[in-house]
Amino acid sequence: MHEQNNLMEKIVSLCKRRGFVYPSSEIYGGFAATYDFGPLGFLLKKNIEKAWRKWNVEMRDDVVEIEGAIFMHPKVWEASGHIGGFADTLVEDLVNHKRFRADHLIEEAGIMENAGGLSLEQTDELMAKHEIKSPDGNPLSKAKKFNQLVKTHLGPIEDDSTVAYLKGESCQNIYVDWKNVLETTRRKLPFGIAQIGKAFRNEITVKNFLFRTREFEQMDVQYFCRPEDSPKCYQEWKQNRWDFYTQLMKFDVSHIRWRQHAQDEKAFYATDAWDVEFKFAELGFREIEGVHDRGSYDLDQHSKFSGQDLRYFDVEKNEKFNPYVVECSGGFGRLFLATLFEFYREEGEGDEKRVYLSLPASLAPYKVAVFPLLKNKPELVGKAREIYNILRKDFSVAWDDRGNVGKRYYSQDEIGTPFCITVDFETIEGDGTVTVRNRDTKEQPRVKIEDLVEYITKQLQ
Ligand code: ATP
Repeated sequence: MHEQNNLMEKIVSLCKRRGFVYPSSEIYGGFAATYDFGPLGFLLKKNIEKAWRKWNVEMRDDVVEIEGAIFMHPKVWEASGHIGGFADTLVEDLVNHKRFRADHLIEEAGIMENAGGLSLEQTDELMAKHEIKSPDGNPLSKAKKFNQLVKTHLGPIEDDSTVAYLKGESCQNIYVDWKNVLETTRRKLPFGIAQIGKAFRNEITVKNFLFRTREFEQMDVQYFCRPEDSPKCYQEWKQNRWDFYTQLMKFDVSHIRWRQHAQDEKAFYATDAWDVEFKFAELGFREIEGVHDRGSYDLDQHSKFSGQDLRYFDVEKNEKFNPYVVECSGGFGRLFLATLFEFYREEGEGDEKRVYLSLPASLAPYKVAVFPLLKNKPELVGKAREIYNILRKDFSVAWDDRGNVGKRYYSQDEIGTPFCITVDFETIEGDGTVTVRNRDTKEQPRVKIEDLVEYITKQLQ
């Protein structure tokens, strides 16, 4: 599947058709690159978050989680460098005035792989040398910087005193709250603070569905350590992220890779930076998470701008210092999309053709679906309903009595339900067994009703 060149289109269509993701405000024609998670998307989202939380917080002794506000004091963004430096390079189509990211045009023209670190002058020079035109074939303006922070006003007055910004990166709560977390949890270095939170960026161009949007969620672990421990912590977290994608998310190792940022490409705060890239079929390898060695940049800046002493006091060594931070910052939308790319399957031809999501059971929106063989036989419906109610106590279960069993299998396959249970005449007249159909193998063993919970629990492990 991964080599397909129209997988994105299939996934967008599946998401819409089955209620994973809808364009936001669709009845008004949609609103550029904003999306709503529908009922199934919501369940998948929560399961991915749960898996992430289990791996990064619950299974560790050294990470706690917070949830910060979206609005923060405007000085946060001055201190972080976002007001001054959080900008992409923009070029404008001189005829229709559409705007584009210059680095993306240079990359798409095959001139270099990562053009994010070019200066304005270098960009202009390259664009002229290679005679790059806008995607609509028109000449382009000179390059200029475009700040990505989303600005608004809070309160009843709209002047400079009420300017506020939506979070440009979610992690800022963590730095600003670091001392509170340290003191209230009585932690010792090294330890991490995790957060799943919204971020907003006024991206110049938005495309590729959930890959690049203006509102998105970031899943962060910011790990605080002694400066001399930071290279070791950095390596450990790199390994941890690799293991998360390959072991917990079960992504094929050939679909992910590391890419180190070149010196001129790194964000203004990072001393070392590697991206985890996932192979989005026809789009190729694209960043899904950044692992950055941020040094003490963030705490230094916030100490300076707030005038507060944010230093850690090491009692044993009797010294005070701002810890170094190893950052792991992944995008939720990109992880959600990568999950769909990874587990989308098609097999068979014609009437036999089926689409299924081979999701790890822990991520599947529903673990089991229960069907009565025939909808108009009350004894079958009653028994199936009984089983449905038993299983609901332990699993997230779907009920379906529409159409025929084949259609119901097809429908559950498409949303990744690992097991479908059918109650038939043998169940009520025979030995009290049901068929349990496996999504991936299509096998249908018969299992006794009283053994179902144990059987499914075992299979889900
Ligand atoms: P890119 O180079 O693709 O713009 P970035 O390097 O600016 O991304 P970071 O600032 O490192 O991204 O943010 C961490 C993570 O947040 C990224 O790895 C990505 O998964 C996610 N992310 C960043 N921008 C967006 C966006 N506009 N839409 C969706 N996810 C995003």
